[in-house]
Amino acid sequence: MRRKISIFGATGSIGQSTLDLIGRAPEDYDVVALTGGGNVAQLAADALKFGADVAVIADEACLPELRAALAGSQTEATAGQAALLEAATRPADWVMSAIVGAAGLEPGLKALEQGATLALANKESLVTAGKLLMETAAKHGARVLPVDSEHSAVFQALVGEDMGAVERVIITASGGAFRDWPLERLAGASVDEASSHPNWDMGQRITIDSASMFNKALELIETREYFGISPAQIETIIHPQSLIHALVGFRDGALMAHLGPPDMRHAIGYALYWPKRQDLPVARLDLAQIAQLQFEAPDLARFPALRLARDVMEMRGGAGAAFNAAKEVALDAFLAREIGFMDMATVVEETLAALSKELTLSNPLETLADVLAMNHLARVRARSVISVRIKKT
Ligand code: NDP
Repeated sequence: MRRKISIFGATGSIGQSTLDLIGRAPEDYDVVALTGGGNVAQLAADALKFGADVAVIADEACLPELRAALAGSQTEATAGQAALLEAATRPADWVMSAIVGAAGLEPGLKALEQGATLALANKESLVTAGKLLMETAAKHGARVLPVDSEHSAVFQALVGEDMGAVERVIITASGGAFRDWPLERLAGASVDEASSHPNWDMGQRITIDSASMFNKALELIETREYFGISPAQIETIIHPQSLIHALVGFRDGALMAHLGPPDMRHAIGYALYWPKRQDLPVARLDLAQIAQLQFEAPDLARFPALRLARDVMEMRGGAGAAFNAAKEVALDAFLAREIGFMDMATVVEETLAALSKELTLSNPLETLADVLAMNHLARVRARSVISVRIKKT
């Protein structure tokens, strides 16, 4: 039976990898909605190729160009936030959430409300609104499947296991572009230097987040929210080869590791075909050639995002939304060359400290309105922290 699928963030790295898999068996799918942020050419090309019912571009100024590109086709062209949410209400069996940043949250919630299976690449959704997202899924009998490679790995290692037998989860980290850089050098790291990853080919924002380890920080929080285990049970280890994506330790001392090539089509494909496994066009590991797998403890002085993640996991409540919002604003400022590489963590830490003086960050965010309010407030506070830093320099 053909499955109805939608892809939010279709023009990005994860979206394109998802379409690559869909395109290998197009007869199995009816594509409902494809969305992009501002890349009209890619969105229109894919909407035509896959015969999507609707193509949505987030930037409303791009609508005339999208309409022109889709003229004469069966695909409807729409734009803006309301159109994104409308597309998420269109019945679909499987929805890929691959918009980058907190903007991915609302379409994901809407998809869950209509009972779709949500393949979640957008880690920011779980970090900002883990409780709301999982409760929405439960309320509507919908399912959230992890697509982040580490969480897909944990999910796979847990098949057939009892959560009560889990002692710990170990999330691996490649160490990003600056794994071996000394602290003194990190302060002067440029946007270009932070934008290339040694192992993974990803969007620019997540690549920089990997260099600062904010990406790993988000993943630790994501682990807490998705699997419901305590911060003390969640560890991270540097593993430069990026071949083991995560390990699960059980009470009998066994460690189940998930290995695979650094290719997101594995985790996407697992979520696409779950609970079955299908052939996937990913490289097979040659262990004899790899010969060695290395591990080292992360350095919290050089990567303070990991230390901040511990605080956020302990606090829960609104701390995740505040953390992510401050991180996104700090990343914008780094990309705009307003602040340095190490300043990003300082901005996030100072924003959390400022917010803690005004409110109790650990109070739960029950509704979408609560989440959006915290997201907004943290962005305003983070901008103030950045302005003060800019004035000082
Ligand atoms: P990209 O930057 O490559 O793509 C992001 C997508 O979101 C694009 O389609 C972009 O549109 C769209 N977009 C950007 N801003 C908005 C907005 N405000 N409203 C609507 N759409 C928007 O990111 P990735 O594919 O790398 O990452 C997507 C998500 O998956 C992130 O949450 C990331 O953390 C997560 N992830 C990514 C991995 C990877 O390997 N890339 C691995 C694990 C998780 P356009 O390009 O048209 O402007």
